[in-house]
Amino acid sequence: MLPPMTPPTIRDLLAERRQPTLSLEFYPPKDPPGFDLLRNSIERMRPVHPDFVTCTYGAGGSSREFSFAAWDLLSQMGFTPVVAHLTCVGASRADIESQIHRIHATGIRNIMALRGDPPRGETTFTPAPDGLAYASDLVALIKSIHPDICCGVAGYPETHPEASSPAEDLRHLKGKLDAGADYVNTQLFFDNDAFFRFLDDARAIGIEAPILPGLMPVASPTQLDRAIGFSQASVPDALRAALQAPDPETARAAGLTWMINQIDGLIAGGVPGIHLYILNQARTLLDPVLTACLARWRHLPSLPTGSA
Ligand SMILES: Cc1cc2nc3c(=O)[nH]c(=O)nc-3n(C[C@H](O)[C@H](O)[C@H](O)COP(=O)(O)OP(=O)(O)OC[C@H]3O[C@@H](n4cnc5c(N)ncnc54)[C@H](O)[C@@H]3O)c2cc1C
Repeated sequence: MLPPMTPPTIRDLLAERRQPTLSLEFYPPKDPPGFDLLRNSIERMRPVHPDFVTCTYGAGGSSREFSFAAWDLLSQMGFTPVVAHLTCVGASRADIESQIHRIHATGIRNIMALRGDPPRGETTFTPAPDGLAYASDLVALIKSIHPDICCGVAGYPETHPEASSPAEDLRHLKGKLDAGADYVNTQLFFDNDAFFRFLDDARAIGIEAPILPGLMPVASPTQLDRAIGFSQASVPDALRAALQAPDPETARAAGLTWMINQIDGLIAGGVPGIHLYILNQARTLLDPVLTACLARWRHLPSLPTGSA
């Protein structure tokens, strides 16, 4: 009997890639109808053939179970490899260890290792009793118990909000890679210059790992404010103005065009891949303007036309 297929690691995918990778980020629904919608979205997104997908983690009992269910659904529907996000929020070291073993037992071999955010309204993160304080601790723990797991870590082109300086934040990013992380996935940004400055600064301090830029399409001023709320990304005046269009469809098209121009610029600048915070939205991914952009640097064999 053949051994069960283990999906490739992101480290191997990036090392062996012939073209930049495309990865998509999902979030776990919170109820059965939400899972039906997610199933439908995955089905519709199939022709785009992402190289890998990621799905976020909510700490706490039920959120955690929804994450496991969403990773399972993505895998079952062939969206592999799946990168399982894992955080240190509200969990002791023993609890985190058991989550890592559980993820490994499902066959997943890729974890995005994150510290997690402080609770709403608080500005500093307090680890749980006997918990982990930083993502670097999580990377070290994962690698110590399952060295075959590939670890991604978060990078911040415009600096993590709690960091005292960009240089200090970059040193901590290097600390995560020195602890064993394999690649970096960035926070979303709207200004490619910020990304390329960050890339140069990272290389200058000896960070050699692949760095995947993360982009999010925003369709309205409200969505933009929400995105800035958690990312603290700076917003070019031209993007803010374009999203003020009175007609929602015009604003939506302007936000998508902004992201497409970012993708074109990043691909021209030689990035190893593009990570889209697509957040379960098949309609956005299948917009013909975006699929035409993807087809400029990816082979898309079976993309239906006019599929948005
Ligand atoms: C791609 C991506 C995916 C994400 N997915 C999720 C998710 O699924 N679920 C979720 O809850 N959140 C998620 N987040 C949000 C993330 O949890 C927050 O941004 C969080 O505030 C920081 O996490 P981190 O892993 O970057 O932390 P860390 O790398 O630990 O950094 C946190 C802060 O501590 C500083 N620091 C790091 N190491 C040290 C050290 N040794 N000494 C002193 N200071 C240090 C850093 O400079 C930074 O300011 C995601 C973020 C990104 C970019």
